[in-house]
Amino acid sequence: SSVVSAPSAQVQIIRSYGGPEVFEPATVAVAAPSATEALVAIKYSGVNFIDTYMRMCLADAYKRPLPAVLGREGAGVIVSLGDGSAVEDSEFKIGDRVCFASAYTGSYATLASIPTSSLIKVPENVGLDVAAALMLQGMTAHYLACSVPTSKGVGIQKGQSCLVHAGAGGVGRLLIQIAKLRGAETVIATVSSEEKAKEARACGADHVVMYTVEDVAAAVKKITGGKGVDVVYDGVGKTTFTGSLDSLRPRGMLALYGNASGTPPAVEPLELMKRGSLMVTRTNLLHFTETREELLWRASDCLNWASQGMLNVRIDSVFGLSQVADAHRALESRGTMGKIILDTSK
Ligand code: NDP
Repeated sequence: SSVVSAPSAQVQIIRSYGGPEVFEPATVAVAAPSATEALVAIKYSGVNFIDTYMRMCLADAYKRPLPAVLGREGAGVIVSLGDGSAVEDSEFKIGDRVCFASAYTGSYATLASIPTSSLIKVPENVGLDVAAALMLQGMTAHYLACSVPTSKGVGIQKGQSCLVHAGAGGVGRLLIQIAKLRGAETVIATVSSEEKAKEARACGADHVVMYTVEDVAAAVKKITGGKGVDVVYDGVGKTTFTGSLDSLRPRGMLALYGNASGTPPAVEPLELMKRGSLMVTRTNLLHFTETREELLWRASDCLNWASQGMLNVRIDSVFGLSQVADAHRALESRGTMGKIILDTSK
């Protein structure tokens, strides 16, 4: 009998929760893919704010059992398909260029067995770096703009107005563009610097508010002739929450989707009535990619828009997998515009 050694992967692992210094390089054996998985050689792995929440265990919702390999998105090439999988029936074959972002965690790795239900084929004219940069933030911007209800329908409607916090960030700059693609009339972005203001405008923002020095709600009221906006997209959380509520018009929607500055406070239902029958939601991408059909809809919209030049994807920087701690520091420093990805070959 011959002994086949299991393939191994270079990974970045955490053995305790904490700052960026908790990452350690490790070599781990990769389990052979099951019938519903594919073994993927990951070329690029996306870095997202949620990785920082898991790293520090920001709240129970982000608690991962330790040791853990973090990373929720990536792009690479299929090396093998699971034993017993009906390869001839599969959407996928060995050598396919694929990307993923959704339920799977563990992309800070050179190789991983990933459920095929999470995989998406990358079109020929889209680079693996762009695919890794686009999936998680792109599908998030997609569901926020297309599937979160407003007073006039599902998703932001033609002629409506919105406020996008952190408009030069990864999700923010894509969300501005998708809101405009849908016909939003007035898109207001918040940013923390002049350079970021320029970037948000280049993405299509009609107005930019410097939220580090300006009163956001007052600026929004001024821009909208005293009315307020139809929807606020808030991934900043703690520091922006009150200004977000104050920026809405009656029946407006506050779509909370992240905690870049910390978790927002509790909401009092009567307060929502007093402020004009407001709506509030706190969303998660997983709930907007629950079926394969929905995942493919969002992913293919994003990939097609990017390949047709309708959606501009900006890679802020590429770090080596071994420099993941620096990548986290960069993201948390508020200094980036667009996406940070990891090149797993370095
Ligand atoms: P970004 O590239 O947008 O980086 C976060 C930005 O938030 C910063 O660049 C900064 O922009 C702003 N910010 C404001 N206050 C702080 C602070 N105290 N510390 C750090 N940053 C701050 O990151 P992502 O695009 O990866 O994520 C944006 C948000 O979206 C995150 O909250 C993330 O968790 C959330 N998210 C949620 C998903 C979901 O489905 N719920 C999925 C994907 C992302 P500026 O300098 O202009 O203030």
